[in-house]
Amino acid sequence: MTTNARRPDERDESGAQNFIANIIEEDLASGRHSRVVTRFPPEPNGYLHIGHVKSICLNFGLARDFKGVCHLRMDDTNPTTEDVEYVENIQRDVRWLGFDWADKLFYASDYFDRLHGFAVELIKKGKAYVDSLSETEIREYRGTVTEPGRPSPYRDRSVEENLDLFERMRKGEFPEGAHVLRMKGDLASPNMKMRDWPMYRIKRAHHYRTGDKWCIYPLYDFAHSLSDAIEGITHSICTLEFENNRELYDWFVENVDVPARPRQYEFARLNLTYTVMSKRKLLELVKGGSVRGWDDPRMPTIAGMRRRGVTPEALRAFCEEVGVAKANSTVEVEKLEHFIRGDLDRRSPRVMAVLRPLKVVLENYPEDRVEEFDVPYFPDDAARGGARKVPFCREFYIEKDDFALDPPDKWHRLAPGREVRLRNAYIIKCHDVIKHPDTGEVVELRCTYDPASRGEGGAEGGRKVKGTLHWVSVRHALRAEVRLYDRLFRDERPDLVEEGVDWKTGLNPESLAVAEGAALEPSLATAEPGKHFQFERQGFFFVDPVDAKPGAPVFNRTVSLKDSWAKIAEPKAPPKAQERPKAEEKAAKRLTPEERLAGLDPARQAEVQRFEGRGLGREEAIVLAEDPALGRLFEEAAAAHASNLRGVASLVINELPRALKGKSVETLPFGGAAVGELVALIDDRTITPTIAKEVLLAMLEKGGSPRAIVEQKGMRQVSDASAIEPIVDRVIAEHAGEVARYRAGNQKLIGFFVGRVMKLSNGKANAELVNELLTRKLG
Ligand code: ATP
Ligand code: MG
Repeated sequence: MTTNARRPDERDESGAQNFIANIIEEDLASGRHSRVVTRFPPEPNGYLHIGHVKSICLNFGLARDFKGVCHLRMDDTNPTTEDVEYVENIQRDVRWLGFDWADKLFYASDYFDRLHGFAVELIKKGKAYVDSLSETEIREYRGTVTEPGRPSPYRDRSVEENLDLFERMRKGEFPEGAHVLRMKGDLASPNMKMRDWPMYRIKRAHHYRTGDKWCIYPLYDFAHSLSDAIEGITHSICTLEFENNRELYDWFVENVDVPARPRQYEFARLNLTYTVMSKRKLLELVKGGSVRGWDDPRMPTIAGMRRRGVTPEALRAFCEEVGVAKANSTVEVEKLEHFIRGDLDRRSPRVMAVLRPLKVVLENYPEDRVEEFDVPYFPDDAARGGARKVPFCREFYIEKDDFALDPPDKWHRLAPGREVRLRNAYIIKCHDVIKHPDTGEVVELRCTYDPASRGEGGAEGGRKVKGTLHWVSVRHALRAEVRLYDRLFRDERPDLVEEGVDWKTGLNPESLAVAEGAALEPSLATAEPGKHFQFERQGFFFVDPVDAKPGAPVFNRTVSLKDSWAKIAEPKAPPKAQERPKAEEKAAKRLTPEERLAGLDPARQAEVQRFEGRGLGREEAIVLAEDPALGRLFEEAAAAHASNLRGVASLVINELPRALKGKSVETLPFGGAAVGELVALIDDRTITPTIAKEVLLAMLEKGGSPRAIVEQKGMRQVSDASAIEPIVDRVIAEHAGEVARYRAGNQKLIGFFVGRVMKLSNGKANAELVNELLTRKLG
């Protein structure tokens, strides 16, 4: 049994610097190695994902930094799941990331003959034997963490018998499972891997490269360590799960006559929120049709990210930033998005596209006139040249969200009587609003323009207005498909599901939305596949390289402009360590309030008292004290709407977490004041509590003031009897049976009638008024 001497990697606990680079530096300085050889060893049983990117950047990056070489090795020893399609795409993806293996492309399957030779060598040395126990028996004999293993009755077979049986295994004389070849380790070792771990098994399967030549295949630890040794790898870097395999790795390399003695080092694998990363799960998504393929832009695969418009530079910078650590952790996906944005920002020309169009007519602009503005692609960087013509005329679109009937404070966009600047064009003023006769939805705006305000800053000495909107001429608009991708999963940790629950239930049903009726500036008609653009004020978009046709581009939203990472990254009190993982939170919910209170530190317990002192219930107070971010939000909301603290608490404690679906309060795009305003809207009967939930969802999506959302979406509560009466009459007319029963004395049916009316009013009717009208009419 090998003793593991203390290694230099154990001195670096911080993870702040690349501890593997330190080791390499020392190895080169001490002359232990003269040249670094690393390898990236994917199994070609799926496409590479963002976790692999981390490993690729590390292995190829070290080779580059130390002027060594990195091999690309297909770890293809399991014939049943591997395929050339995967081999080809792995190569494509590594190259795309910007790395080069020169002529060092290898296949573990090319070593099958040599590996077989090593196995024979171990048998001859008495260090391997053929076992004929079944898989279950082998597991039983292996013992447990507390009990040593027992020797198999076949453990002492002679070398001759072992050689003979192994040869007959190779020739295909036995069925699968009849025998396995095991290393002869130490059955009392605390490391289960050392208790005679299997090396070879019988598998009658066609291999995509070696065909039917073999019916025995080497297992991971044996094949992997010795493939490293064959190639003269100096530093074999893998993820932490393989820490226990290291002893076995060393055992193989020491006991076989190989040209090199590579060493294994482990680092923390990359995990990302809102993402699953195992190839097995990704394959399940592909096969089950949850996505459109391995390269679906929602997939965390390199192929998917590439198609979405993510750049190799962004991925490399992200991996650099995440660093190489020894402790597993989960990185917020916002961080990745932050790096994608940062890279796209410098490379993407700015253009205008309206995703949810609202038509504007300029009443004082001649009907047949068309102006063409020369607009630079990089307005902030004059040196970067390049411009296109953008046509302007009497009718154009703006974003629906850029108009509010009754704007909140600090609204810098368009509203009745207000002025805004049209990007690269004129200042306009809104005079009239045309609504849909039935729905009341705003369908058109009537505006005038100020002819003197043409060009940035305004002609007459730069008349300034606060807001600037993007727009697209109606007559010239390009109608193209714009795909708005969102996260593939709703849950922050989709892999952490309770037992018996399918992890795919965490999929986000809205991960792909097509912007219906999007209107794009005409220059985009010739946008070439694979080009990046910034749609001003919207996000970064990429011309889909697969579905685009000449003259008919399809745009994928790579990432929106809103950077929520900066917000998350801000230092916040309390420090992160105090945040509890979700599973623990769930367990906490099952504790009694008393137990939860007892589990809090004295400062938090004092908080509970303080909240109780303000009139909140014990449980409410505990929830707020347990989550300081939630507590702070409550305080802010209470300050904004002090007249109904219980209402504020109820919204903060019940509705908000429900709407957040596991996301942290810190990711909210609005503060406590907006929450207070929302409760105020319920209290002054502007909206019903049902509508409040909808407003909350809209706030979560885009931020913004609840009052503005209510106005913009026409969500006001209806307290006008003349508007509700017709609905009440209709419900009474349609439910003659219930009416008769009510009149016969079944007063409980009032709830049924109120429910019907509320439903027909889309939840907007004032429930008290409905009740009153119904009671009166039902007599
Ligand atoms: P998966 O579980 O996704 O199938 P894997 O580890 O089985 O991944 P391999 O093809 O065997 O996939 O991995 C090739 C290399 O990439 C290995 O060295 C592995 O340690 C590394 N790797 C895989 N996933 C990650 C990750 N999330 N973070 C960092 N490295 C990873
Ligand atoms: Mg693997």
